[in-house]
Amino acid sequence: MSLSIHRGDLLPGRNYIGRWCDAEEGRRFDVTDPATDAVVASVPDSGAADARAALDAAHAAFATWRAVPAKQRAQILKRWNDLIVAHQEDLGRLISREQGKPLAEGRGEVTYAASYVEWFAEEATRANGDVIPAPVVGRRMFALKEPVGVVAVITPWNFPAAMIARKIAPALAAGCTVVAKPAEDTPLTSLALVKLAEEAGVPAGVLNIVTASRQRAAEVVDVWLDDPRVRKVSFTGSTPVGKHLARRSADTLKKLSLELGGNAPFIVFDDTDLDAAVDGLMAGKFRNGGQTCVSPNRVFVQAGVHDRFVEKLGARIVALKVGPASDEGSQIGPMINAKAVDKIERHVNDAVDSGARVVVGGQRLAALGANFFAPTLLVGADATMACSCEETFGPIVAVTRFETEEQVIAAANGTPFGLAAYFYSQDVSRIWRIADALETGLVGVNEGALAAEAAPFGGVKESGYGREGSVHGLDDYMSLKYVCQGNLR
Ligand code: ADP
Repeated sequence: MSLSIHRGDLLPGRNYIGRWCDAEEGRRFDVTDPATDAVVASVPDSGAADARAALDAAHAAFATWRAVPAKQRAQILKRWNDLIVAHQEDLGRLISREQGKPLAEGRGEVTYAASYVEWFAEEATRANGDVIPAPVVGRRMFALKEPVGVVAVITPWNFPAAMIARKIAPALAAGCTVVAKPAEDTPLTSLALVKLAEEAGVPAGVLNIVTASRQRAAEVVDVWLDDPRVRKVSFTGSTPVGKHLARRSADTLKKLSLELGGNAPFIVFDDTDLDAAVDGLMAGKFRNGGQTCVSPNRVFVQAGVHDRFVEKLGARIVALKVGPASDEGSQIGPMINAKAVDKIERHVNDAVDSGARVVVGGQRLAALGANFFAPTLLVGADATMACSCEETFGPIVAVTRFETEEQVIAAANGTPFGLAAYFYSQDVSRIWRIADALETGLVGVNEGALAAEAAPFGGVKESGYGREGSVHGLDDYMSLKYVCQGNLR
């Protein structure tokens, strides 16, 4: 099946380990379009030998890459940014085809991915250390920033361009070299980005990527986790896999950035602008069909505005257009795979069995394809339901009515997760009270779409640690070396 992109060579269909190559054992696996389950391409199904080869290459390249002046590394990253922007249409189509998001969102993701590359190109030249006033005579004291070494990058499928770009860009900016394994559902966009990085002048060995099926993912990643030459792991994905990576890298005490699952509360207080709250929820919830880690998962609405809010929201959800990414009018695409749809269906059924009521949707849209699910509005949700305890990762809004501020804060924080939270209020004292009380790494106040390359993105509690983007994002890829020169006269 044609992927209808202009530059066919953006689909190398191979690993990149200093050069484009097949997996040592020659195995491959299929990549499918979630809208139809049709096979669109195949990529190498790599194993331990390929992981080792990638690591050898990254380790060998580190000494040279770290010595490249920051300005030169920045120029290469700027060229990479320019190439990503120039290929927005092709990359957007690849994203939408393998991941399923509407084409407008696919194009938007390319811009978003590029914004991190541009940001870290600029930050590369500002990795200043400290000159420390010495407490005694005859000393000069410095804190120097150094690249940590080889970084293993493991990414999920929901943002095939952005997730990998916002890990690779700071790693390269810091002077680290990279071994990467993209998600098995969406390897094509990552390979295309690496192709453009090669074109931008990233030297051979500095950025290596191997693809693997779900069955062989652990075989590849375990090689990296067990090897002391990998000094950092940067992972975005589920909390169970994140915990496994932390445990397995404990023996070699690697630095870790873990951006894991969320269970975002979205709170609407009585004193709010209801239309703005509905807009914010629509933007935050239905982006990528609800398949984002910052997607509002539990919606709490105060009793005084509950019914009006539900009415307004229902009217908006009914109007959403569901369809394949290839249809320019689609606002909600297919879910990533059958497992994802099964989970969504389980959550809806469980909520209804426990007393929630379906206002809109509530079922699969089998006529469109096996992976489509109707945008759904449920009312009468409570904390015991699966849709409140687990991240649904789908187009489901489950509304819980609440009475008091104390009650809703306890409910919002009553989860092991702490990535994003949102609330709508016009009361300035309440705004700061609630922003302080929420146990999350990100808080949207009267805002449903938070992410920006200039802001620190990351969680607390079991949503992980480390920050991506912002002036803090580069530090995650660097270590501090204290240099003390004594006996100066
Ligand atoms: P999801 O459930 O959204 O697919 P995962 O956390 O399972 O999220 O997957 C995120 C990334 O982690 C993917 O690249 C996947 O291949 C990888 N992965 C999954 N299981 C393992 C594992 N046991 N070891 C290493 N990587 C894994």
